[in-house]
Amino acid sequence: MNTGKHLSLNHQRSYELTRKDRLYKNLQRMQDLYGTRHFDFIPQSFILPAEYKELLTASHRLRCPWIVKPVASSRGRGIYLTYEPSDISIEEPVIVSRYIDNPLLIDDNKSDLRLYVLVTSYDPLVVYLYREGLVRCATVKYTSNAMNLDNPCVHLCNYSINKYHSNFRTSPDLEADDGHKRSFSSLIRSLSQSGKDTRKLIFSIEDLIIKTIASTASHVNIACNMFVPSFTNCFELYGFDILIDANLKPWLLEVNFSPSLGCDTSIDKQIKSAMLCDLLNIVGIESKVTEWCREENVCRTDKRQSGRFRSKSANNRRQSAKSDFSPIFHYFEEQHTRKGEFIRIFPTEISMYRYYDYAGTDLNIAFHNYLFPKGDRSMLGVKKSRRKDFEFPITDTDLARYQNYEEYFEKGYVSKKINNIVRPIAEIMRESPEDGNRWIDTIFEELKYSINAGKRLSVSQARKLFIRYLGCIIQRLPYLASQPGQQQLNLVEKFVCRVATKNRGLHQKLLASPRATVDDKVAFISAQLRSFIDGLEKECKDGSGFPNNNHLDAEILEEFCNIASETDFERLLALHTEVEPNCSLQFLFGRKFSDHTKLPLPVICEEGRLDLLKKACLLNGHGSPHIVEKPCSS
Ligand code: ADP
Repeated sequence: MNTGKHLSLNHQRSYELTRKDRLYKNLQRMQDLYGTRHFDFIPQSFILPAEYKELLTASHRLRCPWIVKPVASSRGRGIYLTYEPSDISIEEPVIVSRYIDNPLLIDDNKSDLRLYVLVTSYDPLVVYLYREGLVRCATVKYTSNAMNLDNPCVHLCNYSINKYHSNFRTSPDLEADDGHKRSFSSLIRSLSQSGKDTRKLIFSIEDLIIKTIASTASHVNIACNMFVPSFTNCFELYGFDILIDANLKPWLLEVNFSPSLGCDTSIDKQIKSAMLCDLLNIVGIESKVTEWCREENVCRTDKRQSGRFRSKSANNRRQSAKSDFSPIFHYFEEQHTRKGEFIRIFPTEISMYRYYDYAGTDLNIAFHNYLFPKGDRSMLGVKKSRRKDFEFPITDTDLARYQNYEEYFEKGYVSKKINNIVRPIAEIMRESPEDGNRWIDTIFEELKYSINAGKRLSVSQARKLFIRYLGCIIQRLPYLASQPGQQQLNLVEKFVCRVATKNRGLHQKLLASPRATVDDKVAFISAQLRSFIDGLEKECKDGSGFPNNNHLDAEILEEFCNIASETDFERLLALHTEVEPNCSLQFLFGRKFSDHTKLPLPVICEEGRLDLLKKACLLNGHGSPHIVEKPCSS
């Protein structure tokens, strides 16, 4: 793959960090090499099925809850808690971790953090932490009581699960210290006001991030050296999920690549759009690349191959590296001037002292010396095992860096960057419903005309429409739950139970649980439906059934999707089903449903709503759910 120097790319061997099992293995290797206490921020874990025996031994020694997670899943899917290793299904690879049962509680709810970490280079290692982040809270009061292990809204802080709970509130802005999704700065402010040592907390978080990234740097470097032609090509934004316990110790839960940039709430918009803006600035555009880079197209592989580094003594090597690589170092210094709200946490003046054992590569040392020529190097080479983390003196550099955070946390964030966010068309339409209705009708007529003229939905188009339709149903679930008899809610519940091929664990236990409230159920059904949608979306991305000339115009359809309501989606899909009965509702064809599909599913067709769901279920196509109609409720 030749990307040239003008492209930026990411995800170079990121799975070493972002797959839960690989992350644990990499950190475990560091524990073996340097001592567990230096890497004790990851809960003890076992990868199943391979380490089942070890899990049994550990659980005999200590009776505690375990949290079971599929190794390559996200958004809380498939996660459950148990005391009994024998309860754990090993049909798919899972990681079983010690459950941290003393989390920091916010308004009595469990919480965790999503922090944004930018690595602009792995060699030399350059790591930034964004000053703002998200605090995500569970929506049901925390209790470590074993009876409550099956309620995801108590134990999981994922927004994708808790947003469906009726308790869910989001903060209006970054200053507010309420809501189940709030800013990191508001948390630090309130901890600091209650006399907590937030400085130590921030330094421990920085330490956790640097050590985690350093643990996989060598893997990533190999990939970069093979595939990345220029040092300016590569960057990676990670979402670090960190749980803080009641003693303010941070625990690493997982590292996400492509952390969600979805802006469902205003606080998302404020944080993520500003972060993205800073990220694009810092990563830089071509005009920021120095003249030297443009002319020489510095190729790290060539430099390596010249062998200039390898044959020299450590001191000479540092010297020569300094002279050979000063344009690179200059580039990173220049990059630092565009840091915005990002704080460079590696290298810092004392990072070679602290992280020499883990990150003391030639280039890292050379860059460190370039940045801090007067820095204290007397500690270089002192074995890590002779030092104790967080017993090292907090240096002036640390304090200066902390001031950067403090300034921000105290002042709060002045949100200037987000004024120009493009408003979704749907929002504009909502403000003027009459115009919106006229417009949607016009588009619908145009699509209808095309369908009558012989054009059809491609499979991916039909699936997209169905996805949007289901999305509307999710939004309506709280309303359905408030209806007497909740018959429509039950319909949706049964639909999702059938189509769910994942998420059996915690969620399905919850449905059966007599302790589950209606709100818990709504949250559960929404999460399940969302998971089903994700599966359909993935299939759309796989590229099957791309539109061609025989299909509906993609642009018009896109416009329709932007403003259509549940009924609009329903009438378009229903129309298509009428003219194309043989391949009607192609969006479900070919999907494998769970065994439960044979169960009859009652349908309520009140006000024509959920009619499409009913039709989807009535399909006799391969693998589709079978459905029995019940009379409408009066
Ligand atoms: P996913 O990628 O599916 O979101 P995570 O590892 O982020 O999986 O875990 C999801 C949620 O589970 C987190 O929000 C956290 O609240 C909880 N969690 C995960 N691991 C632990 C643990 N070891 N101890 C306590 N809670 C945990």
